[in-house]
Amino acid sequence: MTETMSSIARLEEVRKHIAAAAHAAGRKAQDVRLIAVSKTFEAPDIAPVIAAGQRCFGENRVQEAMRKWPELRARHGNLELHLIGPLQTNKAADAVGFFDAVQSVDRPKLAATLAREMEKQGRRPNLYIQVNTGDESQKAGIAVAEADGFIRSCLCDLGLPVIGLMCIPPVDADPVPHFRLLAGIARRHGLARLSMGMSGDYEAAIACGATDVRVGSAIFGAR
Ligand SMILES: *Cc1c(COP(=O)(O)O)cnc(C)c1O
Repeated sequence: MTETMSSIARLEEVRKHIAAAAHAAGRKAQDVRLIAVSKTFEAPDIAPVIAAGQRCFGENRVQEAMRKWPELRARHGNLELHLIGPLQTNKAADAVGFFDAVQSVDRPKLAATLAREMEKQGRRPNLYIQVNTGDESQKAGIAVAEADGFIRSCLCDLGLPVIGLMCIPPVDADPVPHFRLLAGIARRHGLARLSMGMSGDYEAAIACGATDVRVGSAIFGAR
């Protein structure tokens, strides 16, 4: 996988690796969804990837996504946009109005604001709860010890459309224990979707049950 390959060729490579990893784990390739992470890339870089059939994209900033995507959405129907970066409470209204899914729900105040905005706007994007599986102080995500209570509160008290969990393992650590931890929490709560695995570790994540892999640089090149 080199920088001289086109994004379309790299996308094809990633798809092949996803299929192989799924089969090796006794799973179906179509049970793993590829989220192409297009943060920092602009429309001219993104359009060819859409033309190659990719429909689901991840962005990590609300404002950047709202600048880039309206025109792409108008030109190409049927796109699905996931917010995968930290969400400030004061941008929750924009996020509810704009995204098809928000993967970074990680604290009670944000959850309550999302519930209020969904009610107000009559829109219910799918939600994932981000778990800080490494309990890293600088990283977003609900602490592991608080995850069960927070998930229960989102589902039962707020009635939020939570469909899965998301994690970003610590850099330089073996991600597998983190993927397994996330899968175990999801299982306890009957949550079907597991968003885990990035360019460097999506095959390992698929072996651990990932249903959504978030792949950026392996498709678009270095940022
Ligand atoms: C940037 C980002 C990714 C993609 O990272 P790559 O290593 O480029 O694949 C995945 N998830 C989140 C939350 C990100 O911010």
